[in-house]
Amino acid sequence: MQWVKVLGGLVGASALLGLGIILGHFAIPKGADAPAPSVSVSQDLDLEILETVMKQLDASKIRENLRELSREPHLASSPRDEALAQLLLQRWRDPESGLDAAEAPTYEVLLSFPSREQPNRVAVVGPTGTILFSCRQSEQNLTGEQGGPDVVPPYAAYAPPGTPQGLLVYANRGTEEDFMELQTQGIRLEGTIALTRYGGTGRGAKAVNAAKHGVAGVLVYTDPADINDGHSSASQTFPNSWRLPPSGVERGSYYEYFGDPLTPYLPANPSSFRLNPDTVSGFPPIPTQPIGFEDAKILLCNLQGTSAPAAWQGALGCDYKLGPGFRADGDFPADSQVNVSVHNRLELRNSSNVLGIIRGAVEPDRYVLYGNHRDSWVHGAVDPSSGTAVLLELSRVLGTLLKKGTWRPRRSIVFASWGAEEFGLIGSTEFTEEFFSKLRERTVAYINVDISVFANATLRAQGTPPVQSVIFSAAKQIPAPGLDGLSIYDNWIQYFNRSSTEYGLVPSLGSLGAGSDYAPFIHFLGISSMDIAYTYDRSKTSARIYPTYHTAFDTFGYVDKFVDPGFSSHQAVARTAGSVLLRLSDSLFLPLNVSDYGETLRNFLQAAQRDLGVLLEQHSISLGPLVTAVEKFEGAAAALGQHVSALQKDTPDPLQVRMLNDQLMLLERTFLNPRAFPEERYYSHVLWAPRTGSVATFPGLANACSRAMNTSLGSAAWAEVQRQLSILVVALEGAAATLRPVADL
Ligand SMILES: [Zn+2]
Repeated sequence: MQWVKVLGGLVGASALLGLGIILGHFAIPKGADAPAPSVSVSQDLDLEILETVMKQLDASKIRENLRELSREPHLASSPRDEALAQLLLQRWRDPESGLDAAEAPTYEVLLSFPSREQPNRVAVVGPTGTILFSCRQSEQNLTGEQGGPDVVPPYAAYAPPGTPQGLLVYANRGTEEDFMELQTQGIRLEGTIALTRYGGTGRGAKAVNAAKHGVAGVLVYTDPADINDGHSSASQTFPNSWRLPPSGVERGSYYEYFGDPLTPYLPANPSSFRLNPDTVSGFPPIPTQPIGFEDAKILLCNLQGTSAPAAWQGALGCDYKLGPGFRADGDFPADSQVNVSVHNRLELRNSSNVLGIIRGAVEPDRYVLYGNHRDSWVHGAVDPSSGTAVLLELSRVLGTLLKKGTWRPRRSIVFASWGAEEFGLIGSTEFTEEFFSKLRERTVAYINVDISVFANATLRAQGTPPVQSVIFSAAKQIPAPGLDGLSIYDNWIQYFNRSSTEYGLVPSLGSLGAGSDYAPFIHFLGISSMDIAYTYDRSKTSARIYPTYHTAFDTFGYVDKFVDPGFSSHQAVARTAGSVLLRLSDSLFLPLNVSDYGETLRNFLQAAQRDLGVLLEQHSISLGPLVTAVEKFEGAAAALGQHVSALQKDTPDPLQVRMLNDQLMLLERTFLNPRAFPEERYYSHVLWAPRTGSVATFPGLANACSRAMNTSLGSAAWAEVQRQLSILVVALEGAAATLRPVADL
């Protein structure tokens, strides 16, 4: 959009100039210490600035950031976590490279920790009560970094204390179907301890499902088949390779929802109303403890009973049996039991977010948010420090340009370092609760870069359709690391692609679940959001995530040696996310392509017609109004797109630009309906709420249909299908209305 640069020099229309001065006057608040470059109301993305930023993002500085960020364990609310909050504040207040302002507000939130005095323990207990075997209580100290006092022992956060003891059963991934299968096999689950492996369902869901069947305690481990492509020996694992060593244990939150557990929908300020911790829902109902696969092997390979189904087998080197209890010819007497002692405690703790702002020159009341969490389980070099290392480098480069007076964005940029994400996206959720109205009114988009580099094969992006085009634009102009002449986009399309009715073959964007801090922004506030990272070559590994995830082996050395030697993938992510950020903050017209929602709506509609059409017809429910609503949306989005293109060729009135940008910004908001899913906390986006029904269509419709499927004509479940359909039609009609010319009826 080079034309605006020309226009900048030619602005002669006095009305335009006058408005420019007024907006400029309000844009630079008193007390802003950085010099203001000359501000034009028609200020557009400056490709030279963009190029400068791309060049200045320095891989070695990202590496140094990472070394410092991951030097010590920094569990949420720990002294080191707070020290890192101060480090961020200091960087963002630096006179040479800082931002306009930075703050570190805290919330008082409910976290869960294991007891130091009474460590959690998993033991095999013989018939006379003697302890025959104990699982490790901490990971093996392989690099000298796993033994420190700040390395929190493996635990299941929010799992309740208790000391259940019973016969061991193997329950695969602990899904509802897995426990049903055990019952079908005639295994009595009452009072047992269920050994499950990670994957297949959420952490907390394993205990919820188990408890429904009378299970008394749950163990969770990571099978080498799921994380190490089957490899498990010490010589094949860290520190000899990037694979998970036998003692490694994935920690994690077992809380079902997100946000502070005591203050749903309210910010966790000291004066806020709090629920009684004893009656809070969403915590695991029974004691749960994670263990390493070296210990899981001893338990699992000694089980008696019938062989587990083929799909339940893993890579521990034995035939997995279902139990209950141990076989007579194994390492333990046949009637030995497993005792699980959990002594976790709930604690109210102060946790900080760190926020830094660069005030916009022309539209300071429009925010582009860029964030990542700061807290880790242990050293957290990959998760989350790889993202924070990138965040700090990006803010340094932009801060330096700002302080030199060479640049100020058109819109405000807000950087955020969220606290207590690992316990359930707490810092970011509390922030969205506290600033609910302001953020909904003024936020253009949210960029999340949590783990920036899982592996160094290709870009991976998740987001809602309006952000697709801006990520593509950025990725097309940045070279892929290590691949001469190939752009990030060209490389990306080889790994993740789909054929689009609109564009042909394009890289495919994943959809946003609730895996990181973007969740409250998209699901609760309806802000167009994205998550950007570099990731695996899936033809080379089937690991469900990088192997040392949430263990004490996720260290600087691990990243430096195995994940991204040279840090060129970190640099590639910094450039991609930085380019997206600048395009969103500086482009005259917001680079959000709302027409791209049409393709999603069309795909959802076609899936509904194909897979649910007959069923709905049998219940006299017509998809007709939905078809009409999708068509209206497509028409309105196309017309708006043409309007933007026409204006770009002309000299647009600044108010016209602002009106259009507001339509683009607010489109995502129109898909929210806080009454759509009353049973789901925070989820109100009718297109991206969790889908449990098997048809890949609108989640509300899919879920309602799957529940109604086997009920009779006229049941409440079928009424819910009709209600969900109406909610959708209203949302899509509303979306179309938002996109139509603003003065139309
Ligand atoms: Zn993370």
